[in-house]
Amino acid sequence: MPLKIKRRKRSIRIAVPLLSGLLPVLLGFAILYMQAERTLKQSTQDTAEEAIRQFELILDNTSQAARELLPLAGQSCLDVNLALREQVTRRPFVRSTNLVWDDTIYCSSLFGNYHEKISSGDYRAGRLLLMKGNPVTPDSALLVYRLGDGKRGAMSTLDGYHLSNVLRMIGRATLLVLQVGNNWLNADGQFHTGALPDFPVAQNMLKSSRYEFSVEAGFAQGETWRYMTSEYPPLFSLLIFFGVIAGSIGYFLQKRSTSPTHEMQRALEAGEFIPYFQPVVQSESKKLSGVEVLMRWRHPKEGLVSPELFIPFAEHSGLIVPMTRSLIQQTAALLGPLSPSFTEPFHIGINITANHCQNLELVKDCREFLNAFAPGSIHLVLELTERELIEPAAITHQLFEQLHELGVMIAIDDFGTGHSSLGYLRQFNVDFLKIDQSFVAMIGIDTLSGHILDSIIELARKLDLAMVAEGVETQEQSDYLTAHNVNFQQGYLFGRPVPGAEFISALSDH
Ligand code: C2E
Ligand code: CA
Ligand code: CA
Repeated sequence: MPLKIKRRKRSIRIAVPLLSGLLPVLLGFAILYMQAERTLKQSTQDTAEEAIRQFELILDNTSQAARELLPLAGQSCLDVNLALREQVTRRPFVRSTNLVWDDTIYCSSLFGNYHEKISSGDYRAGRLLLMKGNPVTPDSALLVYRLGDGKRGAMSTLDGYHLSNVLRMIGRATLLVLQVGNNWLNADGQFHTGALPDFPVAQNMLKSSRYEFSVEAGFAQGETWRYMTSEYPPLFSLLIFFGVIAGSIGYFLQKRSTSPTHEMQRALEAGEFIPYFQPVVQSESKKLSGVEVLMRWRHPKEGLVSPELFIPFAEHSGLIVPMTRSLIQQTAALLGPLSPSFTEPFHIGINITANHCQNLELVKDCREFLNAFAPGSIHLVLELTERELIEPAAITHQLFEQLHELGVMIAIDDFGTGHSSLGYLRQFNVDFLKIDQSFVAMIGIDTLSGHILDSIIELARKLDLAMVAEGVETQEQSDYLTAHNVNFQQGYLFGRPVPGAEFISALSDH
């Protein structure tokens, strides 16, 4: 039963819409994450560049002091002390100035005459030294700029406060440090020696091209997510909106692809609905007088499917109309070429439903069908089940009128199981009654059904209608029907429904 098996597992039914909804959300999320990372990386790059620019400006000013003092180196401290102090006063960032002779500070703006050995190797490129502090302010970092010319030397010292201020003001949310040689300073003004801190997000390291220092910028762990939650809420809503839409589309598509209608539409296009043929014989002579065309679904996975399993779905969806058309065309192609050899009009029964009676398309299909056969070689009989009565509307009258004009006959199928009245039978100008197999099965078994069968036969005779008995399986049933003048018989006793090729070869043997 492909219509049942085709229903996918519950887990798959849930997974498909869930995945199709989640996929765009996850993808969008990944893109936003990368976008956030790129934005943060650009932000640390800008911050580091700005810090470099500010430090260079400060150092330009500071180095100017050393440059102006250098020619004074070697002169007596008493004579130049004023000049040293003047630089401190004039330059906003300079905290102190010193003069050096032969790697020894001999004069200081703070103390006047002074004596302290220095080691020029401590200075990056001989110029810059970041220090933890000096004897006056041991806990306040300093940046010393040194200029040398032979034995002469001049130094100007920058207060670490200015440097950490720059780091704090430019950095804001960004973590920023200033590195000179092996030493570095953070925005809190703390001096460190050794490896730089690791900034896990958007780390950027820039070197000054003019002075021997570098700046490192970055963010703490979790900054990307924090940035996304503060900047992207509208985009998140949009993502969820798209996710819901995609999930709904996934749900709809999978529902459609698993619906019996969709599966049958596919089967119709693949030509999986094929005709089987069951012989109908004349009661007296038992001569083959016709055939009923019965639909089968040759399903690629499920094998041959009985019409009882799929015809109800086909009727409900209206697909029964194109399915029957295909069956009619296949039957014409199979039997048409044999028709010149038919000695008597051969009955070909085709089952139709109420869906076929809503317009006049069937007339065209029947005309084309008849055209495929030698003129007068067949009787096309449309079998309409009594179970679903057709409302006699203007269009149905017109349809049956045109069908009769074409020479098409009408049979009421499963007769005795429905509620058709005499008036109904007359209205549609019925030619045959097909006695339902349930009555045939009761022959010789159930007396009540036997009575009903007798009255059906009686009724048909009064209405002057030809009769076909269905489901004849035993000789006893056949004899009974023959004795009661039922014109034709159909059933396993004479042949089961068989595929076209098999039927044709049996027909040629005949
Ligand atoms: P139906 O039109 O009354 O067809 C007769 C059914 O009885 C067929 O079943 C046939 O195989 C079965 N049958 C024939 N002789 C015997 C017998 O001796 N004993 C028993 N037990 N059964 C017998 P099938 O082919 O399975 O078709 C079942 C029903 O499906 C048909 O009943 C008909 O209502 C519907 N159907 C089949 N093909 C078509 C079609 O092309 N169009 C439409 N609308 N309905 C179809
Ligand atoms: Ca039938
Ligand atoms: Ca029947």
